Amino acid sequence: MKTAEYFDIVIIGAGFSGLYALHRFRDYDVVCFEAGAGVGGTWYWNRYPGARVDIPSMEYSYSFNEDLQQEWSWPEMFSAQPELERYVNHVADRFELRDRIRLSNAVKHMRFDEGTDRWHVHTAKGDHVICKYVVAATGALSVPNAPPWPGREKFKGEILHTAAWPEEGIDLTGKRMGQIGTGSTGIQLAPILAEQAEHLHIFQRTPAFSMPSGNRPMDFEHEREWKENYSERRQKMMQTPGVSLLERSSVACSEYTESQRQELLEEAWTSQSAFQLLLTFSDIMTNRETNEVVADFVRQKIRAIVKDPATADLLCPKDYPIGAKRLCIDNGYFQTFNRPNVTLVDVKSAPIAEFTENGLRTAEAEYELDVIVTATGFDAITGAMTQIDIEGVGGRKLMDKWADGPTAWLGLMVAGFPNLMMIHGPLTPGAQAQMLMVGEWQVNLVGDIIDSLERDHYSRIDTSEEAEGWWAEEVNMLSHNTLHRFANSWYNAKNIEGKKGGFMIYVGGFPRFARLNNEAIADGFRGFIRS
Ligand SMILES: Cc1cc2nc3c(=O)[nH]c(=O)nc-3n(C[C@H](O)[C@H](O)[C@H](O)COP(=O)(O)OP(=O)(O)OC[C@H]3O[C@@H](n4cnc5c(N)ncnc54)[C@H](O)[C@@H]3O)c2cc1C
Repeated sequence: MKTAEYFDIVIIGAGFSGLYALHRFRDYDVVCFEAGAGVGGTWYWNRYPGARVDIPSMEYSYSFNEDLQQEWSWPEMFSAQPELERYVNHVADRFELRDRIRLSNAVKHMRFDEGTDRWHVHTAKGDHVICKYVVAATGALSVPNAPPWPGREKFKGEILHTAAWPEEGIDLTGKRMGQIGTGSTGIQLAPILAEQAEHLHIFQRTPAFSMPSGNRPMDFEHEREWKENYSERRQKMMQTPGVSLLERSSVACSEYTESQRQELLEEAWTSQSAFQLLLTFSDIMTNRETNEVVADFVRQKIRAIVKDPATADLLCPKDYPIGAKRLCIDNGYFQTFNRPNVTLVDVKSAPIAEFTENGLRTAEAEYELDVIVTATGFDAITGAMTQIDIEGVGGRKLMDKWADGPTAWLGLMVAGFPNLMMIHGPLTPGAQAQMLMVGEWQVNLVGDIIDSLERDHYSRIDTSEEAEGWWAEEVNMLSHNTLHRFANSWYNAKNIEGKKGGFMIYVGGFPRFARLNNEAIADGFRGFIRS
């Protein structure tokens, strides 16, 4: 057994948030544990063909260092995974973060010692660290959702998960392929698999709304203009609900004639700006009729692109509002179904039953496959925290406390788990805002909290169940005022059979979220208990 080491702060996770936390806390004695063999989190693990950000490159980058944002050049308007991984590695080198990161070393167990107000952190490689604070930058989409069907061990071919794609890549040329899942990832992946496969079967449970990404090589005039105005633009972004500079209409759909509506929607569809479609009218997420106008516009697009009417019909989402799940963006997804080597399989009506020796069996048929790619998403938002055995005050376990769904004051702290703060925790804006900059903002908030605790000689900060209740009310009130609750998705834990959770995302927009956080701190740490 290794001897215990002492640190001020343990950071869990070396994704974009954890790396920035290492930089922000550089004046403390800090160590970072990362499960992966490299830095970058999402952009280390998700190296499937087609992985790409759906926020413009000039926005989806760190804002904390002016020289960095001036000197870095993004080759494309929407960055692909290899470029994001190159960037994050550059940041790790440039800010000399590596020597404090322990890679391939997941945190497995944590226990809060009430006598000393210290966390005991234990890792996969046997490290034992005793520290005052733990900052969990463990990611909202970092635990792959394993396919639930039996028979995996029987399959003679290869099963891949998009979020654990082999680092060395894999040649899929000429293979009989199956793709399970048609969410954001499946939609990015399918056109590329189709080009390589002998035949590609795409197994769809729920069709997704998607719009063209508008990705293209970087426009250097656009880049120059951004760089000239970076700090002003970053500030403006933080004042928008999604932390992104999209044009947001303040006019309701009912104010327009039918032909004006179609014209506006057409403009948004070809805007080369992902998500513009959801901002065409002010009431898309609050008014079912408006939502239906936009949803119908997309269904018409799908029917116009996909030649086979039965396939087109299957690809049209009909039973949830557009935008209630994160809108997908694509590079030719619907066109893929016009290829002779691609078949859509409806596994809603005939569910997948099992993996077999030669492929996959549904309730209707068996499909012979060489490679099966599972794009089955994540045990989102809570998965990374509940897979660590975390014991708080009185030996209470986090996984038990959250058995019916997560609670957290401001999405930051859980009552009974002192000195543990989460970045992108449950009940924060998550995928409703641009996560890179929200992560930076939250790290700064945690930094300010820790600085103030140290300055004022506190040894413990906790929150209360009452405060968790206030936040639950805020989150539920907001979600009830929008159409988000009408979809089964990872926002409400309904992407995984049997998972409980309620609505886990803060949909009030980033400015309101930030204001409530700041007000609580300014108001004598309202909702927190310091001792
Ligand atoms: C395919 C995909 C596309 C996305 N596209 C966008 C986008 O377009 N725009 C956007 O805003 N967001 C997007 N996201 C969300 C993305 O996760 C965030 O933007 C951002 O990268 C989150 O950074 P993070 O550091 O907070 O978390 P992550 O990048 O998830 O990093 C968390 C890290 O913690 C590590 N970890 C977890 N548990 C442990 C443990 N017990 N011990 C040690 N290490 C642990 C993980 O291995 C991981 O490396 C996307 C996510 C995915 C999966």
